[in-house]
Amino acid sequence: MSSVLMSSMSWVAYQERLQDDGLVLLLPCGALEQHGPHLPLGTDALLSAAIAQTVAEKVNGLVAPTLSYGYKSQPKSGGGQHFPGTTSLDGQSLSQIARDVIREFARHGVNHLVIVDGHYENQWFLTEGIDLAMRELGASSPLRIMRLEYWDFCTEATLQKIFPDGFPGFALEHAAVIETSLMLHYYPDLVHLDLIPHDQPADFPPYDIYPTRTEWVPPSGVLSSAKGASAAKGALMAAQITDSIAAAIAHEFTL
Ligand code: ZN
Ligand code: MN
Repeated sequence: MSSVLMSSMSWVAYQERLQDDGLVLLLPCGALEQHGPHLPLGTDALLSAAIAQTVAEKVNGLVAPTLSYGYKSQPKSGGGQHFPGTTSLDGQSLSQIARDVIREFARHGVNHLVIVDGHYENQWFLTEGIDLAMRELGASSPLRIMRLEYWDFCTEATLQKIFPDGFPGFALEHAAVIETSLMLHYYPDLVHLDLIPHDQPADFPPYDIYPTRTEWVPPSGVLSSAKGASAAKGALMAAQITDSIAAAIAHEFTL
């Protein structure tokens, strides 16, 4: 079992690690959300956890238990709320959970926290949770927080290798080549390649309608094809992304 998991440590061992001034704690954040017929509902949580764990090993950090529920799935980025299995929080709930755990980590003496987001829709509600916690902790708090969406670390050079025929954009990447390849790399047993759907990529207008137009979303829940996915592409992306995140942490938190 990996030694970087906070949930596997005793409080005594955890406290001992906190004596190290440069200790970095990583908090993965995901969602329980449909990811097509070929990927599990927990994909966003599983990938943020795997990436956080790999990064923790590189920066000698620890990983807190994943926030496994996220903000509501939107049609253009996650397929929407109409799929069975998609189980989401109100924005305020997510912000308050984030605020609460950040405040607890600060109480423990964590000075460097990295929030690793794996679900597009979480971003502003996590940002709100960070802001509420920082305001409550006050200007004298030594806590510094980095928030990131892991896909933003994917370089142009990597994207060119993953998408030789052109990159459809991160929004349409839901359950498509990037997530499927990363899942094949980290959790091959949870991927059903034979069930990858043949749907055309989604073509959304530049506005939203409420209640959402579920007919805009491909019935499979996959927003662009996952056909080009492979474990090799997943390994390449995982290595580059986790190296880049580790470098950013070392730079900002001067490890
Ligand atoms: Zn996802
Ligand atoms: Mn998602």
